[in-house]
Amino acid sequence: MSSSSRVEAEENIATHTPSNKNENITVRIGLETHVQLITRSKLFCSCKNPVTLKEEPAPNTLVCDVCLGMPGTKPVLNKRVVEQAIMVALALNADPAKRTFFSRKTYFYPDMNKNYQITQYEIPIASGGWVEIEGDDSSKKKIRIRRIHIEEDPAKLVHRDGYTLVDYNRAGIPLLEIVTEPDFSSPREARAYLQKLVQILEYLGVYDSTTQATIKSDANISMEYNGIAGERVELKNITGTREIERALSYEVIRQLNVFRRGGVPSRETRAWDENVGVSKSLRMKEEEEEYGYIFDPDLPVIEIDENFIGKIGGNLPELPDEKRRRFMQQYGLKEKTAESLTADVEIADLFEKLCRSVSVKNAVTWTLVLMKTLNYHSMKYREAGIPDNWMVELVKAYEDGCYSDVVTEEILRKMVEEKQPMSVIVEKYKYPSLKDVGNLEEIIRKVVKGNRSAVEDYKAGRKEAINFLVGQVMKETRGGADPKKVREILESMLNES
Ligand SMILES: [Zn+2]
Repeated sequence: MSSSSRVEAEENIATHTPSNKNENITVRIGLETHVQLITRSKLFCSCKNPVTLKEEPAPNTLVCDVCLGMPGTKPVLNKRVVEQAIMVALALNADPAKRTFFSRKTYFYPDMNKNYQITQYEIPIASGGWVEIEGDDSSKKKIRIRRIHIEEDPAKLVHRDGYTLVDYNRAGIPLLEIVTEPDFSSPREARAYLQKLVQILEYLGVYDSTTQATIKSDANISMEYNGIAGERVELKNITGTREIERALSYEVIRQLNVFRRGGVPSRETRAWDENVGVSKSLRMKEEEEEYGYIFDPDLPVIEIDENFIGKIGGNLPELPDEKRRRFMQQYGLKEKTAESLTADVEIADLFEKLCRSVSVKNAVTWTLVLMKTLNYHSMKYREAGIPDNWMVELVKAYEDGCYSDVVTEEILRKMVEEKQPMSVIVEKYKYPSLKDVGNLEEIIRKVVKGNRSAVEDYKAGRKEAINFLVGQVMKETRGGADPKKVREILESMLNES
C-alpha cells in the first residue's frame, strides 16, 4: 500500500465511514490510561519522584529499601496521591470510595523485584463518571469512566544488545489508572478523549506534559463486520495522545483485513511498536483474575470521610468545560474559539489578562497568533518563558497604533524565539513604528511614479495590480505601514488621476 492510500484508509476508519458500500463496520474501543502523577515523593517511600526533574537522573540513584522491595521493608502511603486521585475522580464526575485498600498483583518479572505490584483491584479509589468529548458526528458525547485506581509504577527495563539492564528510579512513581467503558466508536474519538483528559489533569495540576511524566494507554478493540463479531483484542503500550490514533487506526485496519479475507479476529494481546508503526502479537489473552490478587497486609485500609472529599471538591479549579462556557458568555466568543483559548489553562489566563487591557477582539487575535507561534516550535506557553505582561505590552502597542499587523507578528515571533521583551526586540531589529513611517502619502506617490506599468494595468481594469503596489509600499516602509490604510490611499490616488 502506498503511504497516501494508507492515510486515506485510516481517515475512512477515523471518520467511521465504511470504505465500501457493501461493508457494515462497527468499532468499539475502550481505554485504560496510566498517568504518572506529579508529586514530590514516590507512592510508598520518601524517594524523590523523578518525573519533575529537568533531566533524567542517573540510573538507580533515586531508590531506597522500600522501592527496591527489600525484605522486611514496609510501604507508607503518600497522602498527596490520595488527594490527587480524589481531585481527578471529582473532575471526571466519578464517585470516590468511602473505604478502600491496596492489593498485591502477583507476577514474576525483573521490573518488579518483590514479585508483586501494589495496586487496587477489588475496590478502586473511585468508580463511575464520564468525560464529554466531540463525537464523530460533531455532537457532544459522554465517554463513561468505569474505574480509577492508584498503583505503583514498576522499574524500567533497558534492553541492550544481548542483555537487559534494570533502572529502579521509576519503581514506585505514583500512577493513576483511568479505565473507560468501550464507548469510543473510532480512533479519532479515543484521541479526542485523551486530549480532553490531559487538559483536565493539567488544569488540576496533577500531571504536566512538559515534564518527564508520561501518559500511557492500553486499548481494547472489538469490531463487527457485516454482522460478524470479532473477538476482543488488547493493544498495549501506547504512549501519549498523538500515538493513540495512529496505533488504533493500524489495529482497526489489521482487523478489517482479517474480516475481508473471510476470517474473524481472535482474542489476543498485541504490543504497539511506535518506532515501526505496527502492532505485534504478544500472547493469547490471560484474564485479570489469573494474576492472583491478595490484600496487602502492610498497608492499612483507607477510610475516606465526606469532609475530606467535600474539602477537595470545594477547592477544585474551574475546569475546561466550565471555562469554555464562561468565555462564550462573558466575552461573546464562538464555541470553537472558546475551546481553543481554554485548551491550555495558562493561555486562558493570559487571554483574560489581555482582556483587561485591550479589546476582546485584539485579545483573541493575538492570543491565537501566539498559540500558532508556540505550536510551530512545539512548545507550551509555560515553556516559552514569556511573562504575561510582555504580551500585554505588545498588544497594547498594537492597539495604540504603534505597529502594523505584520510588524506586531514579527515582534511576537522574535519574543518567543529570543525570550526578550518587545522593547529589546524593537531596538535590536529596528522595527519601524507606524508613528514614524514618515509621510505615507509621499512614499505612495513615489511608488506610483516608479511603477507605471502596474498603474496602467490597474486603470485598464486589472484591479489585482493594486496588490503589487501595496506590496511595494510595504517594502519601502519595511512593513511598518498599515496595509489597509496604504490600499485606501492608493485607491483614491489612482481613481483620481
Ligand atoms: Zn524509595
